[in-house]
Amino acid sequence: MEKKFADGWAKGIIIRNEIDKYLISGKDFIDEVDILDRLEKNKNPDQSFIRHILDKSLSIQTLAPDETAALLNVTSPELWEEIFSAALEVKKKVYDNRIVFFAPLYCSNLCINNCAYCGFREANSREVRRILTLEEIRRETSSVLNEGHKRLVLVFGEHQRSDVEYMAAAVKAVYSVEETAPVSGHPASIRRVNINAAPMEIAKLKILKEAGIGTYQVFQETYHHETYRSVHPSNTIKGDYLWRLYALHRAMEAGLDDVAIGALFGLYDWRFEVMGLLYHALDLEKQFGIGPHTISFPRMTPASGSTLSSDSPWHVSDDDFKKLVAVLRLSVPTAGMIVTAREKAEIKREVIKLGCTQTDASTRIGIGAYSDQKTEQNTDTEQFTIGDPRDLDDVIREVGRMGYIASFCTAGYRCGRTGETIMGMLSHCVEGKYCKLNAVLTFREYLSDYASAETREIGEPLIIKEIGEIESMDYFRDKPHLLQKFRSDYGEILRGKRDLYL
Ligand code: SAM
Ligand code: SF4
Repeated sequence: MEKKFADGWAKGIIIRNEIDKYLISGKDFIDEVDILDRLEKNKNPDQSFIRHILDKSLSIQTLAPDETAALLNVTSPELWEEIFSAALEVKKKVYDNRIVFFAPLYCSNLCINNCAYCGFREANSREVRRILTLEEIRRETSSVLNEGHKRLVLVFGEHQRSDVEYMAAAVKAVYSVEETAPVSGHPASIRRVNINAAPMEIAKLKILKEAGIGTYQVFQETYHHETYRSVHPSNTIKGDYLWRLYALHRAMEAGLDDVAIGALFGLYDWRFEVMGLLYHALDLEKQFGIGPHTISFPRMTPASGSTLSSDSPWHVSDDDFKKLVAVLRLSVPTAGMIVTAREKAEIKREVIKLGCTQTDASTRIGIGAYSDQKTEQNTDTEQFTIGDPRDLDDVIREVGRMGYIASFCTAGYRCGRTGETIMGMLSHCVEGKYCKLNAVLTFREYLSDYASAETREIGEPLIIKEIGEIESMDYFRDKPHLLQKFRSDYGEILRGKRDLYL
């Protein structure tokens, strides 16, 4: 088959020795025979073994492959209920009861790849192509800021026109925007920009680090080699499984130590993919001493011109989706877990109760769709269909009713709590304490600056309850300086100061 990237811009993208250096004895870390063996030999797991695994996870340790395989093989509904409640307990221990909100910003749908499940793939002639100018990116940012967001993830197809220089310029454009909050008139800007983009060489990743990005996300889509080959044509860059598999190893080496792994559920057996994600986390821990900052588990939804996206034999049911979220939560207890607007509101609700830590809201995935103010979906400019287009305010009110506090905290990365530092704090359940303080401070800002009257009605008592909890926690009683700073910051925010964090 003709290699499309044999010359021109695409030729220099894949750098073989930036793959080979991470292989161990010439092999990648996805040993399929090993995964299948473990899934097989852990069938019908003993109830006492499962309880031992739940205890291990509750002591905030990453599970071993046999342990995750055993969880995946549980059949008893009662034992699944125990797994579900342990998953939520782990989340509470590590991250407390806050949900971090973000919005995706799609910058370009130009793409030279041909992923069988994606509306952006080059062969999809129905897709109307568009790449935002920096001015348009600033306009999109203003719209998202006016909703109340503070965290963005920028999303790009893989294309010469959206290369790393464009990405870095886009990041800077986003950070440059200042808006005034609609309710209070206080200044507002985006405080953390994450990136979801194709794998890159180390030198380019350093440019992204320099531009000030937070997390770098690359989803492996499927860890199963043969399935990977069948959905990513070999004459495309994305067809190189290993280039993608080690994208985040390269990011670590470039100094981007908040990396995000993910799999596109629905391409292959969900149990295998959960094992793949665990092996990925373990290899990052082994080679860099730090696991993934977050794990994403998007479920494939129908995309324009893609039959696979609607009729895959591996489609994951809602029940199995809940199971995979809980098993991931328990398997890598320190990782943030992201559920996106691909899911319908009712499923989002369910999996938030299983330990998710982040979600998006007021999501528009069309290119330029935030400033166009279009609420209906246009499948000819979008990558796939979304299940939950609700506004940020509605989702915050809903999670508030469920007892969760919305957070826009970006303190970790701005205070140097990233990579090894944050992982240590997460595993000792210390980061969650800071999360709680910063969640309250950023929620205070949201309630004063953006919330509707109905959301304030839910939010004000919730925030008082949270402050009460903080005041009575032993952890803070032993650290009066922290509590004092928190009280003073909270007061300052009420008096009109913004962007205070611990
Ligand atoms: N082009 C970059 C890449 O492939 O890495 C950027 C990411 S792409 C725009 C973002 C993610 O969307 C993909 O990694 C994939 O997991 C997910 N995605 C693609 N098609 C999808 C579909 N039909 N349903 C749900 N998610 C999809
Ligand atoms: Fe392009 Fe990414 Fe879509 Fe594949 S998933 S076609 S690489 S935008």
